[in-house]
Amino acid sequence: MSPTILLLAKHIVLLLVCITGDKLSLVVQKPHILKAAIDNVTHALIGLIVTEIVVRNFHDQVGRNEKYALIGTGFVLSSLIDLDHFIEAKSFSLHDATNLSERPFLHNSSIFLGLLVSMIGTIATQAKFNASLWITVNFIAFFTHQLRDAIRRGFWFRAPYLNYSTAPVIYWVYLALTQLCPHAIIQLLDMQRSRSTSLGEYKTKYKALEVV
Ligand SMILES: [Zn+2]
Repeated sequence: MSPTILLLAKHIVLLLVCITGDKLSLVVQKPHILKAAIDNVTHALIGLIVTEIVVRNFHDQVGRNEKYALIGTGFVLSSLIDLDHFIEAKSFSLHDATNLSERPFLHNSSIFLGLLVSMIGTIATQAKFNASLWITVNFIAFFTHQLRDAIRRGFWFRAPYLNYSTAPVIYWVYLALTQLCPHAIIQLLDMQRSRSTSLGEYKTKYKALEVV
């Protein structure tokens, strides 16, 4: 299968995961544990596919084990973010965890903004490329998770003197941003690799137009 067809297939699967997961989360209301599981698996699969698209593009920069570790982290972290409901509720009860008076701390959108700034910082300062990749995977997990949650509740920014929620994100905007996310990141990371390549550190395999 050609790389372009493979990439197209991944985007179709990503779209189907988003739409199917969202529809099932609406249709299945009980048992609550099943609804929560569908919601959580949808987050995890979105994180997995987006991370895979990014990491595969830079497969010549990382070893095999690190590649699997990066993709596994994207998958698991996208799911684990919802553990903060239980931590905030100080309870293992799903009822308590889903009936909080405030949104839990890992749903603070300042986190993905901070990760984005860190990512740009490592790229701009030409830190180790692998460091940029690890920060990127964390960004993907938080951004894709919070973007999907934002279709119901908007983004929530919490910092000293700041407690602000945006309006819910329009559904097709969420779908479009989820699809664009890996390619925006690839373009950013490629700036670091291109500069490193000009210094003779890396071989360039990425061709921007091949993945658009
Ligand atoms: Zn969530």
